[in-house]
Amino acid sequence: MKNIAEVLEGVKTVGIGGHIRPDGDCVGSCMALYLYIRKYFPDIDVNVYLDHPKPIFGHIESIDEIKTEVEEERSFDLFITCDVSARDRLALADNLFEHAKKTVCIDHHVSNSGFADVNHIRGEVSSCCEVLYGILDPDKVDLAVATAVYTGMIHDTGVFQYSSTSPETMRIAGELMKTGIPFSRIIDESFYQKTYIQNQVMGRVLAESILLQNGTCIIGYLRKKDMDFYGVTGSDLDGIVSQLRLTRGVEVAIFIYELETQSFKVSLRSNGRVDVSKVAVFFGGGGHTRAAGCDLQGSMYDVINNITAEIEKQLTEEENA
Ligand code: AMP
Ligand code: MN
Ligand code: MN
Repeated sequence: MKNIAEVLEGVKTVGIGGHIRPDGDCVGSCMALYLYIRKYFPDIDVNVYLDHPKPIFGHIESIDEIKTEVEEERSFDLFITCDVSARDRLALADNLFEHAKKTVCIDHHVSNSGFADVNHIRGEVSSCCEVLYGILDPDKVDLAVATAVYTGMIHDTGVFQYSSTSPETMRIAGELMKTGIPFSRIIDESFYQKTYIQNQVMGRVLAESILLQNGTCIIGYLRKKDMDFYGVTGSDLDGIVSQLRLTRGVEVAIFIYELETQSFKVSLRSNGRVDVSKVAVFFGGGGHTRAAGCDLQGSMYDVINNITAEIEKQLTEEENA
């Protein structure tokens, strides 16, 4: 696909959906596409479906127009997914995808095998927002669209810091700046700023973290009862795994929190030696070489054991190579 206009030809209704527990890249790409279609294809009836987006994305125009529930079964002419690595990650919009006349997947996950009719997947690109920008008409990227795209880019590149950041990423960021986006505010308020409680919880996880495998692996964890004590949910825990990764000597950081009894969400970050997407895929998850995740069942002890065993395998294979 060279331009999104190609798939919009003759289309009257479009649905857009992202992945479960949407992050900045997911919200940014879905909203950028929504705002773009709404403005430049006014004859198309477009709807965007996402799990409740966090308040930190309040600066994105028309964020309140996101549908957080599917009220009626609809058969869209076209359903587009953004930042969704696999069909089972769609959650909320799964039924709409199922019944759409045609489907499109725009993504940047290496683990994505292409589950739509048209797949525009670029595994080497840092964010779905960057992939999306590549198929928009650059002259039509206005302040509102640029704000959404920029938000996604900073979230998936750790503010242009991760190795996936390319000269092209920076070029696009420069183009977006030309529209006058409040970039300092977007970075601070949507990425770095934490509530007092969120900082307290991060402090607690760091204080209780464990170093394994000669200090190459660090694990932080949070149990449901402690989350309830602080009154936090999964969306309050962003940034914790990134901070763990910054521990000197560490190759892989693991952060685990309890979704419900015997059910855990696992986040993995690597400094380069270990491909954590392989580890995540092994356990039914997905992601990128340096940032991946999966959901696991069992006791916390089992989850830690199983994950670290896979990481150790990769580290020893590498040593023996
Ligand atoms: P997270 O640790 O949740 O920030 O996720 C890191 C990366 O891994 C993101 O690109 C996610 O899309 C991907 N990811 C996380 N959890 C899963 C999962 N259960 N299945 C597939 N991909 C996942
Ligand atoms: Mn994402
Ligand atoms: Mn992404």
